Amino acid sequence: MIKVGLVSLGCAKNLIDSEVMVGHLQQAGMVMTPEPELADVLIVNTCSFIDMAKKESIAAIHGAVDDREESGRRQKIIVAGCLSQRFGKELPGLMPEVDAFIGLDQITEVAPIIRGLMEGEGAQANLVTEKPQYIPDYDTPRFRLTPKTFAYVKIAEGCNHPCSFCIIPKIRGRHRSRTEDSVVREVEQLVKAGTREINLISQDTTYFGMDKWDGQRPNPRSGVDSARGESLASLLRKLNAIEGDFWVRLLYTHPAHWSDELIETIAECPKIARYIDMPLQHISDRMLKIMRRETDGAYIRDLIKRIRAGIPDIAIRTTFIVGFPGETAEDFEELLDFMRDVRFERAGVFEYSKEEGTRAYGIDGHLHHMTRKSRWHKAMALLQELAEDINQNQVGKRMKVLVEEPGIARTEWDAPDIDSSVVVDRKLPVGDFAEVTIKDWRGYDLVAAR
Ligand code: SF4
Repeated sequence: MIKVGLVSLGCAKNLIDSEVMVGHLQQAGMVMTPEPELADVLIVNTCSFIDMAKKESIAAIHGAVDDREESGRRQKIIVAGCLSQRFGKELPGLMPEVDAFIGLDQITEVAPIIRGLMEGEGAQANLVTEKPQYIPDYDTPRFRLTPKTFAYVKIAEGCNHPCSFCIIPKIRGRHRSRTEDSVVREVEQLVKAGTREINLISQDTTYFGMDKWDGQRPNPRSGVDSARGESLASLLRKLNAIEGDFWVRLLYTHPAHWSDELIETIAECPKIARYIDMPLQHISDRMLKIMRRETDGAYIRDLIKRIRAGIPDIAIRTTFIVGFPGETAEDFEELLDFMRDVRFERAGVFEYSKEEGTRAYGIDGHLHHMTRKSRWHKAMALLQELAEDINQNQVGKRMKVLVEEPGIARTEWDAPDIDSSVVVDRKLPVGDFAEVTIKDWRGYDLVAAR
């Protein structure tokens, strides 16, 4: 019996790729082991979104190679994921100790690939194919690596946006949506299995279905009209109609594809969490233009007003990039003012990362790393201040929470792995919803009583 170990790095979309690999390995009768040292084969599922992620992935691969050498074991090492997909041509020469490189379209073939390696003469295999097309379906063999309480559901893959700082479209390919029926069937299975929170993910969740429309681009202002075909709004209505007590959370939406119809749909569908993740990256028109974000400051401010007016108690999560080439002190001040005005319920900041292969890589005006760093610190300090203030206003409120561990829960305003949590009574049953009263806060976290 072949024993396989897995190191899964990066975002939730990459985690789903890991789950698909494990599902196919188990279907082929192979056994997963949580101890890499006991594995006959070790898969490192990598990320290469930004510099830091690349370094982490390379360190994990080197770590696996060193461990193997030290232990003298005949373990096979497979590198998968975005680093392998992005540098499929370069890596084999740079890492001769690795036995195979696979890309995003090979995740369902991992079992025969392993058999080939185990029976083979030991020649290195490079199986990465360009322009990935693959997207899982509701019946794709898959082993969930998330706690039972929640699951990620990838409703589309790839991205058609031209953001100048981003390498993802070059790694994950063009946007390709699943069908509504496929997503609904998967969510029905999950809810039946007791999953309490469904996190809808893709690169641009709001573009769901639109890649199949008759070539006409929707006008964000007049709204998406689902008469033209499948859309996120019509999908959400179908998910809301599924029997059961669960939340559906929207992650990775893009401001350009929001619409009045989507806002109304969320407001009318109680199972859709009062939470929206919408990375905005910046607010200065000059920066948004150079970043090629397809929206301007006035549009974004108006959209936020419409969302807040249309969906009571909504929490907006966003992320910004500071230190982007050409960002002036005025641009940065405008961003800080915007953060103060809007008071995002949840927010994060990235320091600009210069990525080879992106449009921004070659433009003028790259800032000194100390400038980037000091703006990052200043922005994070402001967000922490605002977060404490927002938390203070939650005291006394009655809230529905999802208990994830003894004494630890999340509110509707907290996505897994990226947001905060609530300290609750340890006697509350894990894996279930509970009603609690917020009595205090500690930094980003809340403290509740029954
Ligand atoms: S929307 Fe922009 S930032 Fe997000 S994955 Fe697509 S290109 Fe990258």
